[in-house]
Amino acid sequence: MKRARSRIGSRRASRYVPPLSLSFPPTCFACLTVYLIVPLVIIFLFLFNRIETDLCDLVRNRVFLFGPLIVARLDYFCENSRMEHDETTNTWRLAACDPLLWKTLDLSMLRSNFIKIPLEPYVYVDGRSDKQLTRLLKIALNLSRGSITTLIFHFNLYVSDDQLTYTAERTPNLKRLVLPAWNRIKRTGICKAISKWNNLESLTMPSIANPPYFMEEISKHCKKFSELKIMGPCDMLCVQTLIRCVPNLKVLSLRVSIVYKDALLLILNGLKNLEVLNISHSLIIDAPPPPATRKVVTELDDSIFKKASRLRQFLTCMDDESCIMCHRMKLDEGLVRWYKYEEGLWKEDEVAPYQTRGLAEMFSCCCPDAFVTNDKIGEIESNSTNFLE
Ligand SMILES: [Zn+2]
Repeated sequence: MKRARSRIGSRRASRYVPPLSLSFPPTCFACLTVYLIVPLVIIFLFLFNRIETDLCDLVRNRVFLFGPLIVARLDYFCENSRMEHDETTNTWRLAACDPLLWKTLDLSMLRSNFIKIPLEPYVYVDGRSDKQLTRLLKIALNLSRGSITTLIFHFNLYVSDDQLTYTAERTPNLKRLVLPAWNRIKRTGICKAISKWNNLESLTMPSIANPPYFMEEISKHCKKFSELKIMGPCDMLCVQTLIRCVPNLKVLSLRVSIVYKDALLLILNGLKNLEVLNISHSLIIDAPPPPATRKVVTELDDSIFKKASRLRQFLTCMDDESCIMCHRMKLDEGLVRWYKYEEGLWKEDEVAPYQTRGLAEMFSCCCPDAFVTNDKIGEIESNSTNFLE
């Protein structure tokens, strides 16, 4: 029995094979192959064989689909390639700089990350948000090469003086500017920008405390200026300034604002070349000298319509029961809190140059008397004539 056991034990010992173990640094051929030769072969294939060519082809064919990320990858893959690297990047650059792509730069989907503060400029903008806007402006304005004619900023995009000046220097052909937030823009900043925009024709701006200095700059530098939209109260000083500085104004929109009745009469009397006036959904305030108290006008009198009869379009809406915008205006006491309502509502307008969608039809459905056309003015005029007779 002892002999048999010893035979079995010796057979098991002779079949034993140790497991393959790799040592580092390599001490045998197998280790050398795994650690050194295989990686070298992969690198060689990647850099000089068809793998690289295929990747470059793949990336090049999809470059217009994936934008800047792919451009970065393209540079990476093709850096050491024998392909037409220059040709590819030049094609991309030419396409990205095509003037047709850059007629309008619409940043109305972009807002600052901000908080309101009690002191001037009444907003504090997060530094990272500011840097993002600067970077975006640099990329867009460099690629556009001065082709931009329309520039739109969001109601809550608080541009700084430096950003505005940088933009103005690179948009010499600008015709239409929508810039409703001026909190961080100083007098020097806006004046410097206006001096660069000699082709400016149309402007959307907030109501400002001291309009003369700004309108004088417009008068001096923007000889083709003819369309203005003011988002905010419009008083006598504002209208007097318009009459003095931009007498050739053709379109004026004061929708969803506070408009003083005496200022409205002055507009109709003083802006002789005005063709279109929009005061839809605005609060018309009658503010007689003290001790009389101011009150909201609920209906425009015929004298106003008669003066407005010379206009091509006079747009009004004062119905807070059936018109949702008038109702909101009343709720917000004349200063509409746009952030509470539909995104993009702030940039709508019934006046054609400012329209971005068929809002005129939308309001005319819910508020059929909102729009006073020439026919209606004619009717009112004949009625008032009859009355005078
Ligand atoms: Zn209305």
